[in-house]
Amino acid sequence: MPPWFLPLNLALLGAVWGSFIAALCSRWPNGESIGAGRSRCDQCGTNIAAYDLIPIVSFILLKGKCRACGKEIGALPLIFEVTAILIGTFPILFLPPIQAVGAAVFGWLLLPLVFLDWRHFWLPDRLLILLAIAGPLAGLLLSPSVTWFDRAVGMAAGFVSLEAIRVGFKRWRGYEGMGAGDPKLFGALGIWVGWQALPMILLGASAIGLGLILVTHTTRTQSRNLLPLGSYLCGAAYLFATVA
Ligand SMILES: [Zn+2]
Repeated sequence: MPPWFLPLNLALLGAVWGSFIAALCSRWPNGESIGAGRSRCDQCGTNIAAYDLIPIVSFILLKGKCRACGKEIGALPLIFEVTAILIGTFPILFLPPIQAVGAAVFGWLLLPLVFLDWRHFWLPDRLLILLAIAGPLAGLLLSPSVTWFDRAVGMAAGFVSLEAIRVGFKRWRGYEGMGAGDPKLFGALGIWVGWQALPMILLGASAIGLGLILVTHTTRTQSRNLLPLGSYLCGAAYLFATVA
């Protein structure tokens, strides 16, 4: 395998995946169909030709505008495409090829969850189920040394630990301090990395959250004290899987 083979293919896959996820993340929260992908302009409804759907290249050639109506498409597709390329290629720096592929898939599945939780405080069940199902498959590439038992315990411990905190907080304070999706997400992450890694990921998520609060000087988002814990958990899990 030539040295450029894996980075090139992960970059290409990342670009295509990022393009798809951008359409998913901009349409799904509005209840629009996602089956069609990014095939028509959100402004004028014109179908976008295949040659205008090339990730990054099309954005640069069309300067981020629709060919038919000239309205701004926005930078979201470009941001997703570049982020997915980085997510796919970054693990090559730290991991042997097969594990790097596992880490890339892990990061790609987490990307829409990061965005949707951060923007909409929403961790869709369908994405969590996909993450959980991919855990025993692609998770084997990422972490071959983690046993099935460790993964099963990780799933149970991840869910139960955060669910206990979530329910306890709600009883104590009388309002939701954590989204219902966060315990499910933590359980799904446990399948990928095994129970041993969960404390580190929770610690990492807290550090990311505190860091962002310090940087942005905001402790409160639009809805009371809700913080996008799911986004932090995804970020910490990806970094842990890749670098640790
Ligand atoms: Zn248009």
